[in-house]
Order: sequence, then structure tokens, then C-alpha cells
Amino acid sequence: MTTAETAPFQFFSLQVDRTRRLGPSLVRVTFTGEDLEGFAAGGRDQSLSLFLPHPGQEAPVLPPLDDPDMYGILGAWRAMPDDVRAVMRSYTVRAQRTDPVNEVDIDFAVHEDGGPACRWAQHAKPGDRVVVLGPAVADNTGVRFRLPEDADSVLVWADETALPAASAILEWLPAETRARVFLEVPYSGDRTELRTEADATVTWLVREEGAPSGLEAVAGAELPGESPYVWIAGESGAVKALRRHFVRERGLDRRRVTFVGYWRKGLSEDALREVPDETAQDAEGDAAQ
Ligand SMILES: Cc1cc2nc3c(=O)[nH]c(=O)nc-3n(C[C@H](O)[C@H](O)[C@H](O)COP(=O)(O)OP(=O)(O)OC[C@H]3O[C@@H](n4cnc5c(N)ncnc54)[C@H](O)[C@@H]3O)c2cc1C
Repeated sequence: MTTAETAPFQFFSLQVDRTRRLGPSLVRVTFTGEDLEGFAAGGRDQSLSLFLPHPGQEAPVLPPLDDPDMYGILGAWRAMPDDVRAVMRSYTVRAQRTDPVNEVDIDFAVHEDGGPACRWAQHAKPGDRVVVLGPAVADNTGVRFRLPEDADSVLVWADETALPAASAILEWLPAETRARVFLEVPYSGDRTELRTEADATVTWLVREEGAPSGLEAVAGAELPGESPYVWIAGESGAVKALRRHFVRERGLDRRRVTFVGYWRKGLSEDALREVPDETAQDAEGDAAQ
């Protein structure tokens, strides 16, 4: 059996319970399902793989999920025709509540040339079915935010796709942690309320207000402490430029800079899986020097 004891990830069949517009660019979808009993999100930037139906399908098409071998299921899913098999996209567990009922929130950034996930979220309604490959243990490789013990502060940059992760990171940060946070969003109405016990200074960079780019804003800012930990996630080009800035210009130890390209302009997530990760290559180049 694939259980929490043997695997850090598991397949879960879920249904939409409700949706809520958080702002012009974000839709929150709340999921429920008996399967959630084994779901164990640990907060921070915990991510999952979301499997969605194509338009016209009642449920996402996957091989039987009772196979104990998670990789076997994934292999069989990959072997199915593209236009039949469920669409797979990466998302963040924005929150999990277990009381009074087990529920999971995912916040979807909706964008103009919307791909299948964006379109699905815009039309999601109660009862719609999805499958996720998500956390069966709270701490697994789906969590990239790893605060080193000796870090005295945190610097975060996120665009709208990583705003859910940045918000969950702020909720998780130990009280009084010094944090400098840059959140880049398309519209004024995308500013959301953030909950944190950290000593956080947040700058919203709103594109429609003509805000400077993340790189310009970050380059002009002081680091929050002597040994900060940096977490950057969002559009790959911006992530690459920011990572370079911290490692090459500011001279931060590259192991203290966590970076994740969440999407790349002009490429769907399927196409992105087929091309080399330029930011990771950049980082490997730095490591080799
Ligand atoms: C670990 C991880 C966690 C993530 N968490 C979240 C999350 O919580 N919420 C969230 O919204 N996204 C999140 N993403 C990003 C999300 O997976 C991508 O945005 C994905 O491309 C959306 O799928 P799609 O089907 O809508 O578009 P795709 O079919 O993948 O792409 C279609 C087109 O849309 C473009 N595109 C994709 N996203 C955007 C965007 N935001 N703005 C403008 N153009 C875009 C692509 O470049 C492409 O041209 C995460 C990604 C990763 C890797």
C-alpha cells in the first residue's frame, strides 16, 4: 500500500466545495473529499500536482489509483494520449483546515492567455472532480522553503503565482523573524491581507500602478539582516535575474538562496517540462566555480 508510512506523496480524489474571487487575478478554490484524511500539508510553499479534466470530461482521466506504485501510475498516465489523459499542473497548498471539516485551498492566478488550469479555475463549481498528487507527510520535497538555523532574517520575492506560497510562508515564520517581502501583482485589487507574526516589511509592486520591476525594487533595498535567507519564486526570467543579483552581485552564499521558476512567459507547463531549466543551469555554473 502507498501510505504515509511508506511514501511522502499520495494520490487524492477531491471535489470542489466552493470558489471565491480574492481579487482581479486570483481565484480561491476550496476542495473537500473523504480522501483528505491522509492529506498532510505542512505549510510554507508545499506544492502538489493537480490533475484536471479536459473540457467535456466529467473527471480527470488517470489509470486506476489503487496501484501501490505511485511511479507506475504516473508512467501509465504519461503513456495515455495527450487529449485524453488528465492535464497536470503544479500548484501550492495555500491552506489545509481539519476542523470542523477537512478542506484544502488552492489559489489560482488567472491570466489573459489562460491555459487549461487557469480556465478550469475560472469555471470551477461545487462538485467538480480533480485528483491531486499531494503530501501524505507534512515535510517532504514539496516544501522548498528551508530556513537555515543561523539565518537572522528572510527576504521573499513572489509574483501572483507564488503569492499563495509567500502568504503561507509568512503565516509559518516564527514570531519576530525579520522579513523583507516583495510581492509583484498585476492590479491594485490583488493586494491581499497577510497574516504573520514575523516582523515583516511588505512592499507591493503593482504593475498597473507602474511599479518598478522586482529586480529594480530588490536591488535598491537593504538586506534585512547580516545573514539572510532568500526565497524567490514566480516567472522564470524574473527568478533567474533575481537569483543572479543575490548570488553574483550581493555575494550571498548560493545555498541560502532558494529559487523556483513557477512558469515561463510563452511556454505552457507541459512545454516547460521539455526544456532545460535555465535558472538551475545558472546555479550549477555558480556551484562549479
Ligand atoms: C511548485 C509550483 C507551485 C505553483 N503554485 C501556484 C499557485 O499556487 N497558484 C498559481 O496560480 N500558480 C502556481 N504555479 C504556477 C502554475 O503552475 C503555472 O502558472 C501554470 O502554467 C498554469 O497552468 P495553465 O494551464 O493555466 O497555463 P499553461 O498551459 O501552463 O500556460 C499557458 C500560457 O499561459 C502562460 N502563463 C502561465 N501562467 C501565467 C501567469 N500567471 N500569468 C501570465 N501568463 C501565464 C504560459 O507562459 C503560457 O504561455 C506553481 C508552479 C510551481 C512549479
